[in-house]
Amino acid sequence: MLRRQSSGTIKQSVTVEGIGIHTGTPSRITLLPAPSGAGIVFRSRGVEIPARAASVVDTSRCTVLGKDGVTISTVEHLMSAIASQRYDKRDLTNLYIDVEGVELPIGDGSANLWVETLAGAGLHKIGTQKRLAPEGDLLITGKNGSFITAFDAQFFSATVVVQFDHPLIGTQVAHFQAFPGNYAESIAPARTFGFIEEVEALRKAGLALGGNEDNAVVIYPDRYSRPLRFENELARHKLLDLIGDLALAGLPFANMQIFAYKPSHGLNVEFAKKLAANDWDRENWYPFSG
Ligand SMILES: [Zn+2]
Repeated sequence: MLRRQSSGTIKQSVTVEGIGIHTGTPSRITLLPAPSGAGIVFRSRGVEIPARAASVVDTSRCTVLGKDGVTISTVEHLMSAIASQRYDKRDLTNLYIDVEGVELPIGDGSANLWVETLAGAGLHKIGTQKRLAPEGDLLITGKNGSFITAFDAQFFSATVVVQFDHPLIGTQVAHFQAFPGNYAESIAPARTFGFIEEVEALRKAGLALGGNEDNAVVIYPDRYSRPLRFENELARHKLLDLIGDLALAGLPFANMQIFAYKPSHGLNVEFAKKLAANDWDRENWYPFSG
């Protein structure tokens, strides 16, 4: 099912600096306007890496893009904020992301940093493009009963269910409906999280080096490191990650209802690949670009 939508980029360049949660290293990110047809493209050390599932080289803790020996870690929160612009009826489909460093800044662990940065850069329409809604249902399954499924729908919505064998958590559900303002208010502020025993193991493995209680919710056996922003903040963060990873499908997919049970970066990226490879009308297949 083809519909038309606007294609856009940012009005002015904007630079953000910060520390990556996994590598603990500083980075400097500049978002720049890109012409119609460019798509979302990361650029680092002379290498251009399209923000597509085919560019993903690792999903063990975060989503890592790579090409020709250059990698960029933790792209999912920025990608989520980029994808969310369409829910506010400001399509951001063309953007250069220049990266000095190896990992995007984590900010406060949520997508607020990127939502605010994009708001500061401003968006403007540069044309129109076709977009597609899935015809038929898609399903992908993973470990421990996890799955993601999508159906054609009038509007974009997503539901995520997470389950943790932890007395404070158990089962959490988050639901998102795409209407203006809803992403910034109810999804973007949800922070990344980790269990204390996991955080200690990650540090030993050389990961989570930049993680601390200012940029992640640390879960102890009987408490959270800081008060939660939402009672179901963990499920909301998984929904934030899901939107960011699915944006790597390279497809504008506004008209879709998604349901995900225990999603992970690995499963999300597999689903993005499935969306990108979906055997829908090939002649009318358009990438996530203007
Ligand atoms: Zn995340």
